[in-house]
Amino acid sequence: MENLSVEEKRRIVEETIEKYMKYLNPGLARLYKFANLTTVEWRGEGAKVFDIFGEAYIDCIGGFGVFNVGRNHPRVVERVIEQLQRLPLSSRTLFNKHQADLAEMLAAITPGNLQYSFFCNSGAEAVEGALKLARLYTKRKKFVSALGGFHGKTFGALSVSGRDVYKKPFEPLLPGTEQVPFNDLKAMERAVDEDTAAVILEPIQGEGGVILPSSEYLKGVREICTRKGALLILDEVQTGLGRTGKMFACEHYGVVPDILTLAKGLGGGVVPLGAFVSTAEIWQVFEDNPLIHSSTMGGNPLSCVAGIETLKVLQEEDIPAQAAAKGAYLLEKLEELQREFPEIIQEVRGLGLLIGVELFDADAASLLAMEMAQRKVLVAYTLNNPRVIRLEPPLTITREEIDTVLSALYDALRGVQAIVQEVRG
Ligand code: PLP
Repeated sequence: MENLSVEEKRRIVEETIEKYMKYLNPGLARLYKFANLTTVEWRGEGAKVFDIFGEAYIDCIGGFGVFNVGRNHPRVVERVIEQLQRLPLSSRTLFNKHQADLAEMLAAITPGNLQYSFFCNSGAEAVEGALKLARLYTKRKKFVSALGGFHGKTFGALSVSGRDVYKKPFEPLLPGTEQVPFNDLKAMERAVDEDTAAVILEPIQGEGGVILPSSEYLKGVREICTRKGALLILDEVQTGLGRTGKMFACEHYGVVPDILTLAKGLGGGVVPLGAFVSTAEIWQVFEDNPLIHSSTMGGNPLSCVAGIETLKVLQEEDIPAQAAAKGAYLLEKLEELQREFPEIIQEVRGLGLLIGVELFDADAASLLAMEMAQRKVLVAYTLNNPRVIRLEPPLTITREEIDTVLSALYDALRGVQAIVQEVRG
């Protein structure tokens, strides 16, 4: 494929876009075209994705936070290839060593007494499983979650998410769900009652616009849940596995959930893999009927070896600490940019390498993403707050690459500034 002529590569790009228009998602194709993203991705390495022409982009979206160990980490790829040739999928009737090993590793690194894991393929599936487990254990029905929260787009996960534009067209959703403002303990206190099975929250809201909890919030929610007999589900699909500078974001706040959900980075950015993890006490409810929750593809050997190698890399290369140091540097530089462009940037905030740049205007945020794409840096707005541009690169991004992102951002902001001034006359 690398030997294709430029004409052939151009044809592939044109045909791919046409097929998106004809067979996939015309609206999305128009959106990509509008954002100047009219090329085809071809190869990945570290923090970069290369298009079919060999043009490198620094990927600050990273599949919405998938590439914690960097793209195509050689150790993960090697293990996956070896497993692929031997036994990629499971019989689902014999014991599977890799699933068992991965569950043991998760029990060792997850906080508190979280011990048992169920493996699936995506974040939304992990959330669905967590919600079901909470109902099964508590024999209660209701769920409380946060406005602006994002937990996925399957029915249950969507029901506990917090943005109407994605929910309204699909109503009726799961009954007995309520969303309260994030960081508001009084509202949480009012919402959780004797029929609440669980509160589900992201420790740091990702798609909501990178919203950090106040120092007392998560501890307060933990206390409310414990007092009222509801479970606390922390959704670390986006914040987990080093992203925020610790292995799990809840560790920043000294809070242990009853159920933890993971996905995105768990498969090393090579194979899809999700999980929900809980305690031995809660897991007992699966004893009566061990098949009450199951998945054909979940926990397949291919994804589990990717997960095992990913966890080893995260620990051995101390990737959470890397994310903390690089994130602090990036945030400091972004604060300087905010001081330089106070009429465009309202606030910058984040933890580790989950960073949001909040602009005053959603159109300016789209413009900024387009300007960045022209400068070969991929960024995007957060799904539940289009005024926030997220920066969540692979955690292995180098200092030099961060500096390249910053200088592209400076130029892009100048571009946005010029357009805004022209529009205002
Ligand atoms: N939970 C959180 C916190 C997420 O950020 C996401 C996706 O962005 C999901 C769940 C859903 O994950 P998936 O897209 O893999 O279903």
